[in-house]
Amino acid sequence: MPKTNKKILVVGGAGYIGSHMVRRLLQAGCDVVILDNLSTGNRKLITDGELVNGNLGDACLLDKLFGAHKFDAVMHFAAFSQVGESMHQPLTYYRNNLAETVVLLDAMVRHNVKRFIFSSTAAVYGEPVAIPITEDHPCMPTNPYGNTKLAVERMLADCDSAHGLKYTALRYFNAAGADDSGEIGELHDPETHLIPIVLKAASGQIEHIQVFGNDYPTTDGTCIRDYVHVNDLAQAHLLALDALLRGGESVVYNLGSSNGYSVREVIANAEAVTGKKIPVVEAPRRAGDPAILVASSEKIKRALGWMPAYENLEKIIRTAWNWHLKQAD
Ligand code: UDP
Repeated sequence: MPKTNKKILVVGGAGYIGSHMVRRLLQAGCDVVILDNLSTGNRKLITDGELVNGNLGDACLLDKLFGAHKFDAVMHFAAFSQVGESMHQPLTYYRNNLAETVVLLDAMVRHNVKRFIFSSTAAVYGEPVAIPITEDHPCMPTNPYGNTKLAVERMLADCDSAHGLKYTALRYFNAAGADDSGEIGELHDPETHLIPIVLKAASGQIEHIQVFGNDYPTTDGTCIRDYVHVNDLAQAHLLALDALLRGGESVVYNLGSSNGYSVREVIANAEAVTGKKIPVVEAPRRAGDPAILVASSEKIKRALGWMPAYENLEKIIRTAWNWHLKQAD
């Protein structure tokens, strides 16, 4: 995208993916306002841009924000995203991911802001019936997290029909890695994602990695996922933003690398990158996990010319390890 002076509201800009997006938008010359309640986000991940500390479900705060700024678009990263947790606390997910997004969209419609980029997920598909997964694959989520994201996608389609709100829903596969600077990266507490946990085990911060399930119908019995670098995700959002601002129609795209790696392959790659032996303990399956999720990202490649720059897992893990070592310092 060429340099631009557009003003963007980044909801959840203090989180893992949101903070990488904020950087990319600032590099592109955008004016950025971040709305984040810092519940899972972290002030440390905001190195520039204006932070408003608050809830996206706070209609009064949104009225003030939309009154004070003329936003060209809103990007929405603020959601709870743990499949396992969503199985045990579904209402927390429906409240945060769905009900609060209703308030945000309502404010956008009232203030006539009609461009929206939504962080959706591969979890909307559920257990795939065909691999790689294309955007027209049936959507049958197997967990509340996926249900809430699919519900928002449907709400967006209704808002387009009724109010002309144009949106791009980006269905992420497994976001991974960190900015090359090592200044921002994945920072969850508690950490539940595979790669950061594997790196903690590599550096001895935890004793071992638990492999959740070894009897899936895959080559080595462990789940296969499609890991995509967080900066490649940010670049895809920038292309999607440009398309919407040029008058593009609402659309859904997958974002993945189109390569599948099993949990054991991730561990082996991490051992190669770190030069450390990673202790493994076999554990039961984690509820809600589909066996295989691998994307076809042909649609966004063809439509917007998106091309992942971090094309293999080792390169992705290298950036995550760089961030991990800087954190340990
Ligand atoms: N996983 C694992 N041990 C862990 C964390 C994750 O075996 O400590 C597995 C998990 O069951 C899944 C894969 O790694 O098959 C990726 O999980 P993650 O939570 O990173 O992402 P998700 O696919 O749930 O979005």
